[in-house]
Amino acid sequence: MSEANALARPAPDNSRVAYQKPQPVGMVPDIFVGGALDLDGDTRDWVPQSDCVSFRPLILGVAQGFYVNLLRVRKAGILSRHRHSGPVHAFTLRGRWHYLEHDWVATPGDYAFEPPGETHTLVVPEDVDEMITLFHVTGGYTYVDPHGAALGYEDVFTKLENARRHYEAIGLGADHADRFVR
Ligand code: FE
Repeated sequence: MSEANALARPAPDNSRVAYQKPQPVGMVPDIFVGGALDLDGDTRDWVPQSDCVSFRPLILGVAQGFYVNLLRVRKAGILSRHRHSGPVHAFTLRGRWHYLEHDWVATPGDYAFEPPGETHTLVVPEDVDEMITLFHVTGGYTYVDPHGAALGYEDVFTKLENARRHYEAIGLGADHADRFVR
């Protein structure tokens, strides 16, 4: 074969070949949650936070102080007033909610960014039976009175503690929560 022909030969197509090298030392395992947005799926995944509020963890990022979860509220009214220490991304999936401090109303398909430092009061309107929103929360939040006095707090560690208690109580074992921890 002449040199010209060799150069003209097409390079082998390796577009479907998996990455051949080891992943970096120290990398944590990935997480896969099948049916993460199946809102009416396995009820055992939902961790009660109060009598009308529950959450489904997707990742509990203890090393970076963040978490992603679905929050479900089955009660209308004022849910909580709280101050965020970090940013929040909110994708509403079901129902409707708003903050007393803003004039927007979140409905399915909407996205909201909550800036670090903001204090707001979450309200679920009277005609809403169920609200579900995917929240990506970095840092934590402090429950406060209308003047900002601290009443309690929530963060990835309180979420993990709740999840472990719940999974233990329903027989899955506390370490069922480990699959969400990174
Ligand atoms: Fe908030």
